[in-house]
Amino acid sequence: MRRLLGCLWIALCVLPAQGAPLPVTEIAPGVFVHQGAHEEFGDGYHGDIANIGFVIGAEAIAVIDTGGSFRIGQALRDAIRSRSSLPIRYVINTHVHSDHIFGNAAFEPDQPQFIGHRKLAAAMRMRAEVYQANLRTMLGTAADGSRVVLPTREVAAELVLDLGGRKLQLRAWAPAHTDHDLTVFDDQTASLWMGDLLFVERAPSIDGDVKGWIAAIATLEAMPAAIAIPGHGPVVANKATFLARQRRYLQVLVDDLKRGIAAGLPMQQTVRDAAASERSHWQLFDSVNLRNAELLYPALEWE
Ligand SMILES: [Zn+2]
Repeated sequence: MRRLLGCLWIALCVLPAQGAPLPVTEIAPGVFVHQGAHEEFGDGYHGDIANIGFVIGAEAIAVIDTGGSFRIGQALRDAIRSRSSLPIRYVINTHVHSDHIFGNAAFEPDQPQFIGHRKLAAAMRMRAEVYQANLRTMLGTAADGSRVVLPTREVAAELVLDLGGRKLQLRAWAPAHTDHDLTVFDDQTASLWMGDLLFVERAPSIDGDVKGWIAAIATLEAMPAAIAIPGHGPVVANKATFLARQRRYLQVLVDDLKRGIAAGLPMQQTVRDAAASERSHWQLFDSVNLRNAELLYPALEWE
């Protein structure tokens, strides 16, 4: 009962009522984050599982990821408009996954630059049809208005955006969580939007290059940041702790799969047991880890 009440309480607090602004927290001056819930895609998915937010400068506003539906994007826009009437000049997507991008269309009236990694547009084009069909299946009419909106400006390596009095440094990464991850660093508050290059609490899902991701973690560790905003889970001050946890999971998964393959164990068994020692450390572990293991196994088998 307590658990049920807890869930209800969370649902009431986290989910915006239809037409209400999305709840956001000002984690540093002018930096606002909405934390998504730890839920899987599928039954019960409501499009609000990723961390999204915005940064307000003296002259303009940048949005960083827009949520998993048009409706969430609109609620995010309402949250911005209840705080500032400055122009929303930039909408930045950290990567293609549908929980991060389907709110883009809600910002089209602002005519912002839509910004992403130079490989984002290709990923969006390739997935748009399936993503939109899946969203309709999961959300029904709550998916209304949700469309894939392509970037209008691409980041090949780095890009600096001036919001007036503060600059955002965008960085395009080599394949890691996906093949088109983008991070955003706010120089005024030293806060780093990490997209899904960092998962906190929720099991990290792999859709790019696991070795590249492990390598990226070393670079991310060295980046100065007072505050880190992960793609999922709470904002953290000590990103090194959480990057280390994530590296440990990724490495254990790879090592366990390799060990099973080397021992000639059946694929099903190897995939099922991989990274079992990590199970208690992560939320949504069973479903996410199985997907990861099934994805990695064929490539590792060929090594
Ligand atoms: Zn993702």
